[in-house]
Amino acid sequence: MSHVKKIKNAPEGFNKISPVLFDFEKKLDEVHKEKESRLSAKSQEKLWKIMQIHHERSLYIYKLYYKRKLISRELYQFLIKHKFCDKHLIAKWRKQGYEKLCCLRCIQSDETTHGKTCICRVPRAQLELEAEKKGTEVTFKQCVHCGCRGCASTD
Ligand SMILES: [Zn+2]
Ligand SMILES: [Zn+2]
Repeated sequence: MSHVKKIKNAPEGFNKISPVLFDFEKKLDEVHKEKESRLSAKSQEKLWKIMQIHHERSLYIYKLYYKRKLISRELYQFLIKHKFCDKHLIAKWRKQGYEKLCCLRCIQSDETTHGKTCICRVPRAQLELEAEKKGTEVTFKQCVHCGCRGCASTD
């Protein structure tokens, strides 16, 4: 049964946003149901899609609370508690330079070639400059962690 529909005793305002939350849930379900593939590229794509939906849902709640001020603090806390959004990611978005951060992994990983942060955090202009110096083109399209196409604040 749907996680959204199971929610009881939600603070006021939940009913207004529950259709949107339900849509996000449906999208996640659809991706989860997609056929598992042995090909790693496929399963990576699936993971990216899931992360993207989680990102969009957190962004939706973040905007409702911090930007549009349409939901109460009580409801916001409730949504965090029920894992409808990622409070750690939202905390980052509130910091300068992290406004467009795609996911937390992209600022934590050290298995990447660009030092501690993921290549998706490097501003496009800087990538282009670096490529130009080497006499090449920017080859970066999507990062390995979440499929981000670039999330520097200046992009
Ligand atoms: Zn990113
Ligand atoms: Zn990344």
